[in-house]
Amino acid sequence: MAVKAAVKTRTKKRIRIKAKRRAASKSKRKSRRKPPADLKKLRGWLLEEQERLTAELQEIEHRTARMDESDRANELSAYEDHPADLASETFEREKDLAIGESVEGMLNKVNTALEKMERGTYGTCDACGRPIKKARLKALPFATLCLDCQGRLER
Ligand SMILES: [Zn+2]
Repeated sequence: MAVKAAVKTRTKKRIRIKAKRRAASKSKRKSRRKPPADLKKLRGWLLEEQERLTAELQEIEHRTARMDESDRANELSAYEDHPADLASETFEREKDLAIGESVEGMLNKVNTALEKMERGTYGTCDACGRPIKKARLKALPFATLCLDCQGRLER
Protein backbone atom coordinates (compact mmCIF):
# COMPACT_ATOMS: atom_id res chain seq x y z
CA MET A 1 0.00 0.00 0.00
CA ALA A 2 2.71 2.42 1.02
CA VAL A 3 4.78 1.44 -1.99
CA LYS A 4 1.89 2.07 -4.29
CA ALA A 5 1.39 5.51 -2.84
CA ALA A 6 5.08 6.28 -3.16
CA VAL A 7 5.09 5.30 -6.81
CA LYS A 8 2.08 7.47 -7.38
CA THR A 9 3.72 10.52 -5.79
CA ARG A 10 6.89 9.89 -7.70
CA THR A 11 5.01 9.84 -10.99
CA LYS A 12 3.23 13.03 -10.08
CA LYS A 13 6.50 14.62 -9.13
CA ARG A 14 8.09 13.59 -12.40
CA ILE A 15 5.25 15.13 -14.34
CA ARG A 16 5.55 18.31 -12.35
CA ILE A 17 9.31 18.48 -12.91
CA LYS A 18 8.90 17.93 -16.63
CA ALA A 19 6.19 20.53 -16.78
CA LYS A 20 8.39 22.94 -14.90
CA ARG A 21 11.24 22.28 -17.27
CA ARG A 22 8.98 22.90 -20.22
CA ALA A 23 7.62 26.04 -18.64
CA ALA A 24 11.18 27.16 -18.01
CA SER A 25 12.32 26.62 -21.57
CA LYS A 26 9.18 28.34 -22.74
CA SER A 27 9.70 31.37 -20.59
CA LYS A 28 13.28 31.51 -21.74
CA ARG A 29 12.06 31.82 -25.28
CA LYS A 30 9.61 34.52 -24.28
CA SER A 31 12.24 35.97 -21.96
CA ARG A 32 10.57 36.18 -18.58
CA ARG A 33 11.55 39.51 -17.14
CA LYS A 34 12.40 40.37 -13.60
CA PRO A 35 10.26 42.95 -11.83
CA PRO A 36 11.72 46.46 -12.17
CA ALA A 37 13.88 47.79 -9.35
CA ASP A 38 11.97 51.07 -9.57
CA LEU A 39 8.53 50.53 -8.01
CA LYS A 40 7.12 53.37 -10.12
CA LYS A 41 7.60 51.17 -13.16
CA LEU A 42 5.87 48.23 -11.52
CA ARG A 43 2.40 48.95 -12.89
CA GLY A 44 3.62 48.86 -16.49
CA TRP A 45 5.50 45.69 -15.77
CA LEU A 46 2.43 44.09 -14.18
CA LEU A 47 0.27 45.02 -17.16
CA GLU A 48 2.76 43.40 -19.51
CA GLU A 49 2.89 40.32 -17.32
CA GLN A 50 -0.91 40.20 -17.30
CA GLU A 51 -0.96 40.27 -21.09
CA ARG A 52 1.78 37.68 -21.43
CA LEU A 53 0.24 35.27 -18.91
CA THR A 54 -3.24 35.64 -20.40
CA ALA A 55 -1.86 34.78 -23.84
CA GLU A 56 -0.01 31.80 -22.41
CA LEU A 57 -3.13 30.54 -20.66
CA GLN A 58 -5.16 30.89 -23.86
CA GLU A 59 -2.55 28.96 -25.77
CA ILE A 60 -2.80 26.10 -23.26
CA GLU A 61 -6.59 26.17 -23.36
CA HIS A 62 -6.59 26.03 -27.16
CA ARG A 63 -4.22 23.10 -27.10
CA THR A 64 -6.40 21.24 -24.60
CA ALA A 65 -9.49 21.98 -26.68
CA ARG A 66 -7.75 20.62 -29.77
CA MET A 67 -6.88 17.44 -27.89
CA ASP A 68 -10.49 17.00 -26.84
CA GLU A 69 -11.53 17.40 -30.45
CA SER A 70 -9.12 14.78 -31.69
CA ASP A 71 -10.36 12.54 -28.87
CA ARG A 72 -13.87 12.72 -30.19
CA ALA A 73 -12.70 12.18 -33.76
CA ASN A 74 -10.74 9.09 -32.85
CA GLU A 75 -13.30 7.82 -30.37
CA LEU A 76 -12.26 4.52 -28.89
CA SER A 77 -11.21 2.61 -31.97
CA ALA A 78 -7.81 4.25 -32.46
CA TYR A 79 -6.77 3.87 -28.85
CA GLU A 80 -7.75 0.26 -28.55
CA ASP A 81 -4.89 -0.66 -30.84
CA HIS A 82 -2.50 1.97 -29.53
CA PRO A 83 -2.61 2.18 -25.77
CA ALA A 84 0.73 4.00 -25.86
CA ASP A 85 -0.86 6.91 -27.71
CA LEU A 86 -3.39 7.26 -24.97
CA ALA A 87 -0.65 7.20 -22.34
CA SER A 88 1.43 9.88 -24.02
CA GLU A 89 -1.61 12.01 -24.63
CA THR A 90 -2.65 11.71 -21.00
CA PHE A 91 0.86 12.71 -20.07
CA GLU A 92 0.75 15.75 -22.34
CA ARG A 93 -2.54 16.75 -20.83
CA GLU A 94 -1.19 16.42 -17.29
CA LYS A 95 1.72 18.62 -18.26
CA ASP A 96 -0.59 21.24 -19.69
CA LEU A 97 -2.68 21.10 -16.54
CA ALA A 98 0.37 21.66 -14.37
CA ILE A 99 1.60 24.55 -16.51
CA GLY A 100 -1.90 25.97 -16.72
CA GLU A 101 -2.25 25.91 -12.95
CA SER A 102 1.03 27.70 -12.36
CA VAL A 103 0.28 30.29 -15.05
CA GLU A 104 -3.18 30.82 -13.59
CA GLY A 105 -1.78 31.20 -10.09
CA MET A 106 0.70 33.76 -11.36
CA LEU A 107 -1.98 35.64 -13.26
CA ASN A 108 -4.13 35.81 -10.12
CA LYS A 109 -1.24 37.37 -8.23
CA VAL A 110 -0.68 39.92 -10.99
CA ASN A 111 -4.39 40.76 -11.07
CA THR A 112 -4.54 41.16 -7.30
CA ALA A 113 -1.55 43.51 -7.35
CA LEU A 114 -3.13 45.58 -10.15
CA GLU A 115 -6.46 45.72 -8.31
CA LYS A 116 -4.69 46.96 -5.21
CA MET A 117 -2.99 49.65 -7.29
CA GLU A 118 -6.33 50.70 -8.70
CA ARG A 119 -7.79 50.99 -5.22
CA GLY A 120 -4.70 52.77 -4.00
CA THR A 121 -3.97 50.08 -1.47
CA TYR A 122 -0.93 48.64 -3.20
CA GLY A 123 1.94 48.35 -0.76
CA THR A 124 -0.28 48.19 2.31
CA CYS A 125 -0.75 45.01 4.27
CA ASP A 126 -4.10 43.26 3.74
CA ALA A 127 -4.17 42.14 7.36
CA CYS A 128 -2.99 45.08 9.46
CA GLY A 129 -3.16 47.94 6.94
CA ARG A 130 0.38 49.09 7.65
CA PRO A 131 2.74 49.82 4.75
CA ILE A 132 4.77 46.91 3.43
CA LYS A 133 8.49 47.68 3.35
CA LYS A 134 9.80 48.75 -0.07
CA ALA A 135 12.58 46.18 0.01
CA ARG A 136 9.98 43.45 0.46
CA LEU A 137 7.90 44.75 -2.43
CA LYS A 138 10.93 44.92 -4.67
CA ALA A 139 11.75 41.32 -3.93
CA LEU A 140 8.11 40.19 -3.91
CA PRO A 141 5.98 42.59 -5.98
CA PHE A 142 2.91 40.42 -5.30
CA ALA A 143 3.21 40.49 -1.52
CA THR A 144 -0.14 41.34 0.04
CA LEU A 145 1.00 41.02 3.65
CA CYS A 146 3.73 42.74 5.61
CA LEU A 147 6.55 40.62 6.93
CA ASP A 148 5.08 40.51 10.44
CA CYS A 149 1.65 39.33 9.31
CA GLN A 150 3.17 36.84 6.87
CA GLY A 151 5.24 35.48 9.74
CA ARG A 152 2.18 35.15 11.97
CA LEU A 153 0.36 33.34 9.19
CA GLU A 154 3.16 30.82 8.77
CA ARG A 155 3.58 30.16 12.46
ZN1 LIG B 1 0.60 43.36 8.34
